[in-house]
Amino acid sequence: MTVSHILGYPRIGAQRELKKVTEAYWKGEVTREELEAAGQALRLHHWQTQQNAGLDFVSVGDFAFYDQVLNVSVMLGAVPGRFGAQQEVSAGDVALDTAFRMARGRAPSGKPAAACEMTKYFDTNYHYLVPELHEGQTFTLASQRLFDEVDEALQAGFTPKVTLTGPLTWLWLGKTKGSEFDRLTLLDNVLDVYSAILSRLATQGIEWVQLDEPALVQDLPLAWQQAFERAYHRLQSAPVKVLVATYFGALGDNLSLTTRLPVAGLHIDAVRAPQQVENVIDRLSPHQVLSIGFVDGRNIWRADLAALRERLLPLKVRLGQRLWLAPSCSLLHVPVDLTQEAELDSDLVSWLAFARQKLDEVVTLTRLVDNRATAVDEQRVSEATRALDTRRESARIHQPAVSQRLAAITEQDSQRRSSYATRAVAQRRSLALPLFPTTTIGSFPQTNEIRAARRAFKAGELSQADYEARMREEIAYAVERQEALGLDVPVHGEAERNDMVEYFGEQLEGFAFTRFGWVQSYGTRCVKPPIIFGDVTRPTPMTVRWSEFAQTLTQKPMKGMLTGPVTILQWSFVRDDQPRATTCRQIALALRDEVVDLEKAGIQVIQIDEPALREGLPLRQHEWQGYLDWAVESFQLSAAGVADSTQIHTHMCYSEFNDIIGAIAALDADVITIETSRSDMQLLDAFQDFAYPNEIGPGVYDIHTPNIPEVSWMVDLMEKALEKIPAERLWVNPDCGLKTRGWAEVEPALANMVEAAKILRQRYA
Ligand code: GLN
Ligand code: ZN
Repeated sequence: MTVSHILGYPRIGAQRELKKVTEAYWKGEVTREELEAAGQALRLHHWQTQQNAGLDFVSVGDFAFYDQVLNVSVMLGAVPGRFGAQQEVSAGDVALDTAFRMARGRAPSGKPAAACEMTKYFDTNYHYLVPELHEGQTFTLASQRLFDEVDEALQAGFTPKVTLTGPLTWLWLGKTKGSEFDRLTLLDNVLDVYSAILSRLATQGIEWVQLDEPALVQDLPLAWQQAFERAYHRLQSAPVKVLVATYFGALGDNLSLTTRLPVAGLHIDAVRAPQQVENVIDRLSPHQVLSIGFVDGRNIWRADLAALRERLLPLKVRLGQRLWLAPSCSLLHVPVDLTQEAELDSDLVSWLAFARQKLDEVVTLTRLVDNRATAVDEQRVSEATRALDTRRESARIHQPAVSQRLAAITEQDSQRRSSYATRAVAQRRSLALPLFPTTTIGSFPQTNEIRAARRAFKAGELSQADYEARMREEIAYAVERQEALGLDVPVHGEAERNDMVEYFGEQLEGFAFTRFGWVQSYGTRCVKPPIIFGDVTRPTPMTVRWSEFAQTLTQKPMKGMLTGPVTILQWSFVRDDQPRATTCRQIALALRDEVVDLEKAGIQVIQIDEPALREGLPLRQHEWQGYLDWAVESFQLSAAGVADSTQIHTHMCYSEFNDIIGAIAALDADVITIETSRSDMQLLDAFQDFAYPNEIGPGVYDIHTPNIPEVSWMVDLMEKALEKIPAERLWVNPDCGLKTRGWAEVEPALANMVEAAKILRQRYA
């Protein structure tokens, strides 16, 4: 019979129970025993859910109080020295608080120390803690947690399959600290510990261990490809069956390498890379099982069970007992349970599947291909077919006016009327800004009062009129403060915005919002991405009244503030029935109308934020250009409808610009503000080397800390920038928005920043 399983389940709980109890523990409100008990209850509940759904295995090892990659680091004893945990490591029992200190710098017990770096897991919005690797580092089995969880599952009567980040992907995700060295020199010792883990799991009675190796869908240097062979030959002697799990893309040039690994099974992603399935089967050795992920683990759309049955039947003929079915990747990346969404309309609900629903899809698919479908399965198939038929034809999804407008786009639409040089002259005339103009990135402090007003408004306790009046007060306050500080290009402060994507999604057609559609972003932080289900239109202006009002309060040019099309796309669940590029262009056209309306309302400076531009890059380099082409075009489509004298800004947070600088320049924003202060202006090298032609605002202070930056420090940074960019093209601004700071920090910091700009003007005018 076909085996059904999953690569991992969301651990946060349907009501974010894990977040709540963990944060309460950090605050000292619950004990460690209570925290552990809550974690155990969630695990048992999730295993029970998987078993009830009819899966052949429950997933053990996917639970983590903070991060599953951190769990592996701890298990390998890779705890950086500054956490003073050598004793715990050698005793083979690293404390939970030590792991929390690695993640957040502090915990209820133990000395605070600098937290480990955190970064995005492949192309997801999930952040893992980066393993810190140093030359000559040794590893040892330093935690028993996984084995305890296995016992827990066994005692409760479940059949566990254990999942762990694989040794090569763990090293691939790690960063070298201290001197540069080859991470692969650490592999042998890492493998010693993996061997010990696998042996121990075998003695516990575990048959299958899934080692996640998504690094195999990326461009790997030859040495890493060879290391895969070496590593899995070594692990071959382990007394368990190993399933190497790959996901997020195609194996590509790692295909034959992967199929040659001496392991009992492979998992491949057939959602992102449907074309690779037959190629993999062709190369599989006759004893290997193949787990195929046809159910989308990265998105929330319901699977087309009838179509998948047809797709699977010939594969079943070829693979027989060796066929396994699973979602494409861990379900960590989708919300927990759709049945909680009582407020979504029934059409939309019928088009969706969250983690809980995806379990049913996998189980039904296995029974369909085995010809043992039950009445329940047949009903699921017909419900899915019916729902997908309505989805395909729904007038809520397909608006002819939108496709017509898209089809009519010309090349001119994504080009400003004149070149930057000509525009700069027109802008200098109309804006009359000093040298080194000062500005901010958009948001001012989101105070408790602002949030309380929004909550009251959403709860119906505050009328629309009263809420808007309150927001106007906040805007007036922000403008008044900026006037007093002497900022050259003020902003309205974004008081009315909850979130930079949600705020726009709520006003655009084609977007839906869930109530409990939380997805773990990092640690206890969860996000609730909007769902883009249909053609995107803008029924009415979204920001114009706020910017217009703000402009009445000052003689200075008020900067309008929008979130860009790529960022809105990137931070949402995107429809799967058309290319992402098409959805992005639709958003771009809606934003274009907003930009033009802002201009008509007298706004002469408009910023279109694109902090997510770089993170949208595909995992494989040969796909980059295709993505950058439509991403850049989308930005330009939204920006290019204005006169030469209107100044377009864009903003990006910390990004590695070197390899995408051509695309950054192609955006052709008049001004780009970027996060640079922590890199000591080194990020500007890319702009200098490329001879970037337009204006740049390199952030002069880090907004992530409450520290007040000193005038001289900011002047020094700008002088470093001046070595790379001429004065006429430099702006002075913070690294990012100020919404997470308090006014008590913001005012003195900006006063110093304005002072720094004055000194620069004296020196360089
Ligand atoms: N305009 C936004 C703000 O200031 C930009 C946020 C971001 O870059 N992520 O908050
Ligand atoms: Zn930013």
